[in-house]
Amino acid sequence: MDFSLNNEQKMMIDTVRRFIAEELRPLEGGIEEHGFLDKAKAQAVHEKAKELGLYAMNMPAELGGGGLSNLDRILCEEQFGHTSDILIRRAFGNVYEPLLHCQGEQIERWLKPAIEGMRTCAITITESGAGSDAAGIKTHAKKTDSGWVLNGSKHFISDGEWSDFFLVSAKTGEKEISMFMVDKGLPGFTVGKDQKMMGLRGTPHLELFFDNVPLEAVTLLGHEGQGFKLAMGALNVVRLAQVGARAVGKASHVCELMVAYASERKQFSQRIGDFQMVQQQLADSVIEINAARWMVYHAAWMLDQGLDAREQIAMVKVLAAETLGRVVDRAVQIFGGMGFCKELPIERYYRDARIYRIFDGTSEIHRSVIAKMAMKKGAALFDVNR
Ligand SMILES: Cc1cc2nc3c(=O)[nH]c(=O)nc-3n(C[C@H](O)[C@H](O)[C@H](O)COP(=O)(O)OP(=O)(O)OC[C@H]3O[C@@H](n4cnc5c(N)ncnc54)[C@H](O)[C@@H]3O)c2cc1C
Repeated sequence: MDFSLNNEQKMMIDTVRRFIAEELRPLEGGIEEHGFLDKAKAQAVHEKAKELGLYAMNMPAELGGGGLSNLDRILCEEQFGHTSDILIRRAFGNVYEPLLHCQGEQIERWLKPAIEGMRTCAITITESGAGSDAAGIKTHAKKTDSGWVLNGSKHFISDGEWSDFFLVSAKTGEKEISMFMVDKGLPGFTVGKDQKMMGLRGTPHLELFFDNVPLEAVTLLGHEGQGFKLAMGALNVVRLAQVGARAVGKASHVCELMVAYASERKQFSQRIGDFQMVQQQLADSVIEINAARWMVYHAAWMLDQGLDAREQIAMVKVLAAETLGRVVDRAVQIFGGMGFCKELPIERYYRDARIYRIFDGTSEIHRSVIAKMAMKKGAALFDVNR
């Protein structure tokens, strides 16, 4: 067992860290104030990140991506957690793993342009009537002579406004769900309003409507009735990276600010960090962040060994998201009034953190998966010697 990072990994982390500190952090305040990221600024950070090889690092090198292992990718994603969602998307890309199921013509039309940053993609599963119950969707695609015709709607689609195409889940039979790559601009495809959120300012979350949208046969990802399964499987690593690792990164960033404040701020002629009740909050944050981090790394290592890490990732999702929630809550408390005041970013981190327990499967859904698997597999789920 070797828990150390090699020099290449340390350099990679340092590069991402510096890029975020120098290029992205200065933009965060403006996005928060105006509610959007300026297109020219987005283009500039995208180009700079690409020059440094920081775009689509999770994708295979032979297709133009960074070719990182799962563990190396996780190390970067942890750093991404130090900045805002929309900046991560524009600088580093959200090229989703389900796209790796592209075949033949699909590779040139959707996968490669996404890796090159020429086309942006969003994942669209959720509907107003189907969230946790992702298989309960109503959107459906009917076979025609030339392909499919798509009808239905989606909501809460992150990055919808910036996206050129969408991975859409749709029923193709009573119990069958397939996945389609749907280009923006197709007849009958309309984009609805931006659903304003409590946090993640700057990232648009859109409604999408499909009214007899004609789809070519080639838009089907994987096989009919199987694309959804393939996509859900591939989304496991997305959950580990974009929720687990980023939550750990965000919690670390907030914890650093909290420790610094507790070391400087004086009340009753003492540093507030010298009060035991404040110390307990600092200590619990440090303990929990470390526990979550090592679980994230372990799950990534399992993926790199070709092991099935579904249950570990469900555990990571719950632990990392809830750790982040507790850490930002303590940060607001330790910063006192300044934690609640918009003059500092602490209140923003608090708002941004809340969604981590909800998207990519709520804590309740993951807990239910873990409990069911514990009853099925017994000690194998929590004892490495079994
Ligand atoms: C900011 C944001 C970004 C998002 N981005 C995307 C995106 O890009 N693409 C996309 O497809 N979706 C996206 N979503 C949707 C997100 O994944 C869903 O909101 C999430 O899966 C929960 O679904 P729901 O909101 O319909 O809640 P519901 O499923 O209605 O759940 C409501 C409550 O009931 C509980 N519950 C439900 N079922 C059970 C059960 N079986 N056991 C115990 N408790 C249960 C839940 O845990 C929750 O507490 C986004 C949502 C938000 C808010």
